[in-house]
Amino acid sequence: MANLPIVQFEDKILDTVEKHPVVVIIGQTGSGKSTQLSQMLHRKGYSKSGIIAVTQPRRVAAVSVSRRVAQEMDVPLGEEVGYAIRFEDRTSEKTTIKYLTDGVLLRESLSNPELNQYSVIILDEAHERSLNTDILMGLMKRLIKLRSSNLKVLITSATLDGEKVSRFFSNCPVLNVPGKLFPVNILYTPEKPLSYLESALETAMAIHVKEAKGDVLIFMTGQDDIEKLVKKLEERVQSLEEGSCMDAIILPLHGSLPPQMQVRVFNPPPENCRRFIVATNIAETSLTVDGVVFVIDSGYVKQRQYNPSSGMYSLDIVQISKVQADQRAGRAGRTGPGKCHRLYPSRYYNEEFIDATIPEIQRSSLAGTVLYLKSLDLPDIDILKFDFLDPPSSDSLEDALKQLYLIDAIEDDGTITSIGRTMAELPLEPSLSRTLLEANNYGCLSQALSVAAMLSAETSLFPGKSKKRKDRDQDHDHHDPVLPNGSGFGDHIQLLQIYDLWDEHDFDVKWCKDNNLQVRGMLFVKDVRKQLSQIMQKMERKERRGRKERDFDLYTKLRKALCVGYANQLAERMIRHNGYKTMGFKSQLVQVHPSSVLEADEEGMFPNYVVYHELIATTRPFLRNVCAVEMEWVRPILSKLEKVDVKKLSGGSHQPAAEEAKESLLPGKDEAIIIAKPAAADDDPQSRIQAAKDRFLARKGKK
Ligand code: ADP
Ligand code: MG
Repeated sequence: MANLPIVQFEDKILDTVEKHPVVVIIGQTGSGKSTQLSQMLHRKGYSKSGIIAVTQPRRVAAVSVSRRVAQEMDVPLGEEVGYAIRFEDRTSEKTTIKYLTDGVLLRESLSNPELNQYSVIILDEAHERSLNTDILMGLMKRLIKLRSSNLKVLITSATLDGEKVSRFFSNCPVLNVPGKLFPVNILYTPEKPLSYLESALETAMAIHVKEAKGDVLIFMTGQDDIEKLVKKLEERVQSLEEGSCMDAIILPLHGSLPPQMQVRVFNPPPENCRRFIVATNIAETSLTVDGVVFVIDSGYVKQRQYNPSSGMYSLDIVQISKVQADQRAGRAGRTGPGKCHRLYPSRYYNEEFIDATIPEIQRSSLAGTVLYLKSLDLPDIDILKFDFLDPPSSDSLEDALKQLYLIDAIEDDGTITSIGRTMAELPLEPSLSRTLLEANNYGCLSQALSVAAMLSAETSLFPGKSKKRKDRDQDHDHHDPVLPNGSGFGDHIQLLQIYDLWDEHDFDVKWCKDNNLQVRGMLFVKDVRKQLSQIMQKMERKERRGRKERDFDLYTKLRKALCVGYANQLAERMIRHNGYKTMGFKSQLVQVHPSSVLEADEEGMFPNYVVYHELIATTRPFLRNVCAVEMEWVRPILSKLEKVDVKKLSGGSHQPAAEEAKESLLPGKDEAIIIAKPAAADDDPQSRIQAAKDRFLARKGKK
């Protein structure tokens, strides 16, 4: 390891850390930040007074890097070196170096606000600007004041603007670790190709046939196009004449790959063999693959964005930023001079690419985050002045407040409720936490746990389900022989039925295979369910099992609970079309996603009201995972909607001077929330609510 750039700076780093509570360390990808810093601090003795924590925005990175460090220290993973990611904890009493996702560290701080178990906290990959790392930066700023004598905070990044972070932390020192990067020759295409996938394929084959040895790293956008390209590359390589060029191995690399497949990219290739690694942006900075000489950059990345004014998520393939393009190119110059083929003209890079990626906090739903901040019990925390490196928009804060109010997590004056506090302790999104609590009241917790676990699977459980039903029926190899259909109530009930059926088959793996369910995903669901159940038990909410009740009654109870949890995700069928309109603050015309099992009745009518798990724009806006609900359950939500006064919710009546209001973005525990932006006349919530009420009463009158 001695040749890693960061190791040569060990003394300087340790010396600076010794003298300062917060240090920013900037070093190129592959310089050893993630794997070496923790070990240096451990050698220096920092692990004697507490655990050394290293956060990662990505689950895969936490697992992969901890595995590597355990290997280097020659200890079994899970003992001295371990990791913790949501729903999976591989640490023990012995653990002194702990890799964990930023989300897990946030959650830990709920039960232990001072994070006393840690002597060092390294916020790694800060350049990713993940929502959770951004929140952690704000929290660390407070924590180092409280624990000035026994906590060290390191913030590391490959590209981050060090000055900005340094200013944020009262001008803390910034260490730059110079890495040796060999020159990378950048080649552009004259025009944008019609298909980046085909273009990547041709470029890769050209490299393979013409160039000297060296691995090829290809940046695609997601699992789908990675799998396509891997398959095409395999075919093309096979069709080459025997002995005409060196052998080739083609390896995919993305977040939902099983761990044993992920580690394959770290194994050195056999002699006289070229590796093609087809990856998502995970290989930009999170994971370093050695041996790469050629990079092929599609110029795209898949990004999830949330639009607070419509409540809609979209998963878009968007152009990367200049910073990302440079990171990708840099991957070619680690071991010697390299080449980067950009599958776009230079004018795109210069004129169209934005400079830096937009931080996640500015493109996410903040309901979970606002609830989290409200539930923190730090004695002196003044959330009103919560300090963000880049603040979120007031639109997205308003959106979060309204959602939290509708699901009873905050009072109409913005203070957190006891329901809200309990919800914050569950490692689930607010809608599902609320559903579990309500289900507990109705005596259908067991069923709700199964649904929440199924919805929390990190991978797709039904590889065939994304297809349209029509195509599925025609596709004889892939028909679903025995899978239940949700009994007409929709996808949540189907998820429950599938889980119950698997339970009846004693959780047999073969049963999953026979039914085209993804085995690894289903095993994960079972484990998640168990963990959620344990957390609920700790809160003295026990599953009542074995009570004989008709399925139908249970489904009704569960749907009722879902209606409460998803109060902000409610849609009403439109009279003429078989489409839906979302209810609440902004209405949208949407369709139920074709993969849904929700069915029209004999008259071709869909249910009048549904709740949905996700509103996502692909080719057009779709509701994904929907469940039919009844009008009488919807009524209380409408009356609550009627009462919502964003000004009050955001503490408008206590509004101080305008200057102060600008930086006052988040509500304090005892203080009201102030949001500076006045509601525009045309989207005045009152008039919209009145309109919704009128429509509702008109319909009621018709019946
Ligand atoms: P940084 O965080 O600065 O980008 P890392 O500490 O992740 O750098 O990586 C340093 C070196 O360790 C790289 O050369 C990388 O290839 C190697 N490495 C990291 N993780 C693994 C792993 N799981 N297996 C093998 N090598 C690894
Ligand atoms: Mg790293």
